[in-house]
Amino acid sequence: MMKKIPVQITPLKRTRYAFQRLRVCRSCHNFTVLWEKECMHCGKSAFIPVEHMAVRLTKRSMQTERLVALFLTLAGVLFSSTFQEIAICLGGGLALTVLLWIVQRQMVQTESPRKLSKWFNQEQDRLIQGLRLNIEAAVSIRPDNERLAYEMLREIGTLVDSDRNRLQQLSLLRSFILRRDMDLQLESLLLFHFDEGLAEYIGEIAKIKPELIKERTLLYVLDHEAEFLSMPGGKEILAATVGAIVRMKRYVTLYPEFIRRYARLLPKDRFLRLFRIVTTDPHLQFSNLAVEVAEIYNSKYQWDPDFQNTDKKLGHNV
Ligand SMILES: [Zn+2]
Repeated sequence: MMKKIPVQITPLKRTRYAFQRLRVCRSCHNFTVLWEKECMHCGKSAFIPVEHMAVRLTKRSMQTERLVALFLTLAGVLFSSTFQEIAICLGGGLALTVLLWIVQRQMVQTESPRKLSKWFNQEQDRLIQGLRLNIEAAVSIRPDNERLAYEMLREIGTLVDSDRNRLQQLSLLRSFILRRDMDLQLESLLLFHFDEGLAEYIGEIAKIKPELIKERTLLYVLDHEAEFLSMPGGKEILAATVGAIVRMKRYVTLYPEFIRRYARLLPKDRFLRLFRIVTTDPHLQFSNLAVEVAEIYNSKYQWDPDFQNTDKKLGHNV
């Protein structure tokens, strides 16, 4: 068995949009999603958040528009033949430039996201190159500092949709002693195909942080149920998953057959939870799940005082 190491994982900082995690070097336009001070491309300490860069670019293009307005004003003055024409061109041109400046000032915030999306399209290659440098940095640090390598890969994973990255994160997570108080991820690590490492991780999460087992994980487990069963300890992982999802009545109503298949393996507290849901939900009372729950109850918990307050309905059914 793999020897696990104790670690302290830094919680992942949440942002509203994934791109807000990116910084860009003012000097060479290299992107990074990590937190290094010096640019891995040009070596300078000139990173700024991409949102700041978007504001700078927007202001710069607005400045160009104002210069064009001023240039047109001056051209009008030069081509004027009378003093009156000069006064009209100059006054009108300057008034329009000031008006433009006022309007632009109000538009900076709304214009910046549009500018940013256009700019990302132009800088696509550099963005890919920057993320590639980030991945190389994470991989190279792994032999010396697994925790840091995991945090780097997790950060990269917020922007890079790659199964390879997910597998690397999973292999690192499986080498750590996981605790409930850690900021752990699950849905972001789900793969399309079956993977034993992911299956084991799901089993561990189901025990220490059952609230992370949600619809998408459940669908992954259901899609690969046969593969789970064929791996060592797979049945126990499925039982742990069922133990995790019975916390929500909704899942019991949606997936009664899946729960029925592993109900017998549930520990007492999880079975009690399932028992209470089944006995109080009229839609489930005549289901196969209710029959299975009744059989388990009769064979294991009939005389258990914890079940006494809730057993009447099911007892009546049996
Ligand atoms: Zn740079």
